Amino acid sequence: MRFDVITIFPNVIEPMVNESILKRAQDKKLVKIQAHDLRDYTEDKHRKVDDRPFGGGPGMVMCCQPIFDAVKKIRGRRKAHVVMTCPRGKTLTQKRAKRLTKHKNIIIICGHYEGIDERIYDELVDESVSIGDYVLTGGEIPALVIMDAVTRLIPGVLGKEESLDSESFDQNRLDFPQYTRPADFRGKKVPDVLLSGHHKEVEQWRKAQALALTKKHRPDLLKDSK
Ligand code: SAM
Repeated sequence: MRFDVITIFPNVIEPMVNESILKRAQDKKLVKIQAHDLRDYTEDKHRKVDDRPFGGGPGMVMCCQPIFDAVKKIRGRRKAHVVMTCPRGKTLTQKRAKRLTKHKNIIIICGHYEGIDERIYDELVDESVSIGDYVLTGGEIPALVIMDAVTRLIPGVLGKEESLDSESFDQNRLDFPQYTRPADFRGKKVPDVLLSGHHKEVEQWRKAQALALTKKHRPDLLKDSK
C-alpha cells in the first residue's frame, strides 16, 4: 500500500512517519509513505498556492492549479483513491479505516487556511474524511491519523505481540483493562483472576470487563451492534 501526502508542510509529516509502527511498516515494505511539497507544483513565481476568496470574506483559499497538477503527477499511471482531509467529511472510524485498507494507492490532500477551491472536490476528491467535529489549522494531523489508523490494520504490520483481535471497536466493544507488574503497587492490587493462571477464567473476566467498560463509557457502540 502506498500513501502520498500533498501538503505545504512536508516537514510535519516526515518525522512522524519515520517512527514506531509507521516506520516499521515501511521497513517491512508493507507501506510506502511519501510527503510532497505542494509548493513544488505551483506555477506562481513566488510559490504561492492560495488566493483570496471570490465573493469576499476573511482568509485565503487553496488554488486549483497546484493541487490538480500535484495529483496528476503523483498519480501518474496508477489508480489512486484521493482523500481530502476536511471537517465536512464522514468521521473516521475503525470501519472506515478498514475500508481504506482496500486501496493500493491513497493520495491525501492536506488543506489549510479557509480550505480548498470547491472545484477540487468536484473533480479530484473521491472521499472526504474528518477526524472529528472540531476545526484544526491544517490537514497534516488528520493525514497522520488516517495513515496510522489504516497502516496498523494491514496484515503483517503489527507483530505477534500486538494483536488486533480484541482492540477497541472490534465487535463494537472497547478493549478490556490491562495491568502489568508489580501485582501490588502501593497497596493497589491487580485483580486476583489475572494472577490465577486459569486462561479460561481470565478470558471470561476480560470479556465481562470489556462489556462493562463499553456500557459505562460508550453505550452507543452496543446500540450499533444490534
Ligand atoms: N473553513 C473550514 C471549515 O470551517 O470547515 C476549516 C478549514 S481548516 C482551518 C483548514 C484545513 O484543516 C481543512 O481544509 C482541512 O484540510 C483541515 N482540517 C481541519 N479540521 C479538520 C478535521 N476535523 N478533520 C479533517 N481535516 C480537518
